[in-house]
Amino acid sequence: MLKLQNVSKQFDKKVVLSDINLDIKTGEIVSLLGPSGSGKTTLLNLILGLTQMDQGQIIFNDVDITKTPMKNRGFNIVFQDYALFPNLNSYENIVYGLRNKKGLVSDQELQEYIDFLELKPHLNKKIGELSGGQKQRVALARTLVTKPKILLLDEPLSALDGVIKESIKERIKSIAREFKLTTIIVTHDPEEALTLSDKILIINEGKISQFGTPSEIINEPNNRFVEEFILKQL
Ligand code: ATP
Repeated sequence: MLKLQNVSKQFDKKVVLSDINLDIKTGEIVSLLGPSGSGKTTLLNLILGLTQMDQGQIIFNDVDITKTPMKNRGFNIVFQDYALFPNLNSYENIVYGLRNKKGLVSDQELQEYIDFLELKPHLNKKIGELSGGQKQRVALARTLVTKPKILLLDEPLSALDGVIKESIKERIKSIAREFKLTTIIVTHDPEEALTLSDKILIINEGKISQFGTPSEIINEPNNRFVEEFILKQL
């Protein structure tokens, strides 16, 4: 269980997140959904430990990790641009995540992750030779082999379209189910959030507009913003 309690953040005296309270259960897929500038990435970075909050607490499995540095939290992220190394092949990119984590996964487990993401035929390819969906799968594998306690994904579908987008969406769902992995996804696309998530946090101007299941959001929107933001874009 991940708990955020009264979390606030300012940049240059501008309030970017205001009094955020949130409970995420283990294994849930939660989307952080909101318009550009609403504070989604800042919230993701606070959970990751990349940014420090000004006020509030973050509790993970009953331990206060508010002051725990990023490297000790054990969470991991796939960045929007994947941040893969173009001069390395897929396999080298995947094991790069393990460079300081000797013995974290056995060779057999590593193969299981590679098989799960169907990457065997692509292991010797340089990143430039891969399609968008294949790059996303390599980035997911590189993060998963570090056995994160929480998986964070920043706009994982934004660079993909059509069939590939659908297949990565299903892949993310199966990762969360297979590994019982709490997965937190930043997106600005309501359709993506509604079809991918167990719960959606709708954020507007740094405040929570609504937190609920896709059907709650559609059938019982809390306020005008939720109604308009969701309905206008579907
Ligand atoms: P987008 O969908 O466009 O990425 P977002 O919802 O992820 O937007 P954030 O990136 O969290 O929004 O930004 C929220 C606000 O905080 C914006 O007004 C942004 O300009 C500001 N902000 C974010 N990071 C910083 C920073 N390091 N320094 C100053 N202001 C920042």
